[in-house]
Amino acid sequence: DVIIVWFRQDLRLADNPALAAAAATGAQVLPLYILDDDNAGEWALGAASRWWLHQSLTSLDKSLHGKLSVLAGDAHEILLRTVSETGAAAVYWNRCYEPWRIDHDRRIRKSLQAQGVAVRSYNGSLLYEPTTVHKRDGSPYKVFTPYYRNGCLENAPKPRPLVDQPAGVAFLALPSSSRIEDLRLLPAQRWYERMATNWTPGESGAAQRLDAFLADGISHYSKGRDRPDQRFVSRLSPHLHFGELSPHQVRQRILQSVADDEPDENREHFLRELGWREFSTYLLYHWPEMTRSNLQRKFNRFPWREDSSELQKWQTGQTGIPIVDAGMRELWQTGFMHNRVRMITASFLVKNLLLHWHHGEDWFWDTLVDADLANNSAGWQWVAGSGADAAPYFRIFNPVTQARRFDPDGDYVREFVPELQPLPDKYLHAPWEAPAAVLQEAGIRLGRDYPQPLVDLKESRARALAAFRSMTPAD
Ligand code: FAD
Repeated sequence: DVIIVWFRQDLRLADNPALAAAAATGAQVLPLYILDDDNAGEWALGAASRWWLHQSLTSLDKSLHGKLSVLAGDAHEILLRTVSETGAAAVYWNRCYEPWRIDHDRRIRKSLQAQGVAVRSYNGSLLYEPTTVHKRDGSPYKVFTPYYRNGCLENAPKPRPLVDQPAGVAFLALPSSSRIEDLRLLPAQRWYERMATNWTPGESGAAQRLDAFLADGISHYSKGRDRPDQRFVSRLSPHLHFGELSPHQVRQRILQSVADDEPDENREHFLRELGWREFSTYLLYHWPEMTRSNLQRKFNRFPWREDSSELQKWQTGQTGIPIVDAGMRELWQTGFMHNRVRMITASFLVKNLLLHWHHGEDWFWDTLVDADLANNSAGWQWVAGSGADAAPYFRIFNPVTQARRFDPDGDYVREFVPELQPLPDKYLHAPWEAPAAVLQEAGIRLGRDYPQPLVDLKESRARALAAFRSMTPAD
């Protein structure tokens, strides 16, 4: 007998319930990845994610001793074809929660079953699946804290135990498989070289990243997580997105990292952040329209501006606001941006520039190695103030105050905006405030070596508040 294990966002062998279940039957296992851009539509993988996926598939294939089959096209059609080619009796997969996948999976399941093929799906990537968490009256939560405390921790079934990596499985490869290179995930222009020095995609890279975080980051997490100039966050997000490790594995290691059951602020805080990941997926499951529509409908009347030149300056890190530019350049160069800086750059786009959050969402989608439909749209709606449990719109970040607080020595800005390196700390985060003599001594002419600020922070703040007030009350 043959069982197809359809890999998606679970590119690992350990703690992989679909793979473990298929292996446990004793059947031959056909591990298959399908690149299905057409069905993903506007949410086909962005460029940075494609680079990551290429590496991650290569790593998975290596772990499978070259037995990973890869194909590009409509997953529905490919699965039916593969079943008839191999006589497979069953298809197993771990569940995904993007709206387009849910619909598509449902259709695939129906047609396979109609042909007498067994279909089994598992929870590979969430501690608490969306259908298991609800309020007393059965309706979904919209606010994080009660969702997490009452919904998940107190009332949902406990996270499943880890499943062992199967041993001695007879893996089977499809003769018609493409090569990973044939998926054309890598761009023609090799812009990803600096990115490649920052990351090791794949299951063993993920395990190393987790080890490093447990050795160094976790014990400073709670206070250190807001500091982009330091290395106290885990940077596990792309590994989690592609399922190179599961949140179950992460949670278990975190729990084991502290002696006994002693309360530990860092550990609790980190687990709560993993809870935000769960919450974003939960919101997307219950409000699938949230990738494009404001969850608070009054924002449909928000007077967004359109300005492609300002948008481009934001994208390329040329706004003249150092912390914003540092963040946008970090993103471009490394495929990542620290969470604090994501909030600052996003707030600058939607509030100081009054450009629609969709523009930011699209740019992040294309450039982040951890681009994730749920986390990205929830993050943007949160910053824009239009989300379920969002920052109130009128709370507008001042990027200079934020920078002075969270990059106090300017190390982060100096790394990504090297042209400002010679400026004294006092003016680094607001070079336009520097007296002419200071700029001259640093050899910097604003407007030539570094842009003048794209907007006046005070005026643009007032403009944003006026725009917010112009919306008529909620429907
Ligand atoms: P850590 O602080 O080490 O946290 C551990 C894990 O918890 C993360 O890997 C992530 O899986 C989860 N997590 C932490 N914070 C959040 C959060 N606020 N929301 C959801 N999950 C969280 N995250 C993505 O994974 N993909 C995205 O596309 C994405 N887009 C974002 C867009 C905006 C505008 C904002 C404000 C945030 C976005 N985030 C996104 C959330 C967050 O910034 C990243 O998850 C985090 O920076 C990843 O770094 P880390 O792994 O070092 O996080």
